Amino acid sequence: MKYRIIPVTPFQQNCTLIWCEKTSKAAVVDPGGDLDRIKAAIAEEGVSVEKILLTHAHIDHAGGTAELSQDLALPIEGPQREDDFWIQALPQQGQMFGFPVPDVFTPDRWLEDGDTVTVGEVELKVIHTPGHTPGHVVFYEPETGLALVGDVLFQGSIGRTDFPKGDHDTLIRSIREKLFPLGDGIRFIPGHGPMSDFGTERATNPFVSDRWG
Ligand SMILES: [Zn+2]
Repeated sequence: MKYRIIPVTPFQQNCTLIWCEKTSKAAVVDPGGDLDRIKAAIAEEGVSVEKILLTHAHIDHAGGTAELSQDLALPIEGPQREDDFWIQALPQQGQMFGFPVPDVFTPDRWLEDGDTVTVGEVELKVIHTPGHTPGHVVFYEPETGLALVGDVLFQGSIGRTDFPKGDHDTLIRSIREKLFPLGDGIRFIPGHGPMSDFGTERATNPFVSDRWG
């Protein structure tokens, strides 16, 4: 699996184009906005986008979903159903943060823990990781050892939990019990900021490292 990170929106969210090298089939993960930039990246890489994948439904991750889905006739997969209230609240989120006000949408497929999503011949495992939002999911590709973790985990930090239905202890459990067991060598693309790997966060991240118990 190949990838290209495309920072979008005033929040510099890491929208990611992922694709299967063999088939050039691609998916856009978390199209928060700035669709011109996303479309330019698709054209530059010469890939054929077949779907949109969502980690969760905060506006900086999902704000461009309805428009991109309509423009390119793409099905939407994810997040987990518990994030539906965030999808319904996208127009209010847009007003609150001064983003273009997006349309709401209904995913073609809600995802559950243990599901698989495909991009060409690439298979990604779906891991339900509540805490930042209740329906947050992570996409994990075992072959390249890469995870797209949205706003669950960042280099040196973790996602906010002060939103409705956010929960700090649940988030910590999602990271320690569902992500870290995948292995220290797994690299991840967070929703914001630079990439890291689980081993580094396990050793140094003050919120979830082994040392701070
Ligand atoms: Zn978020």
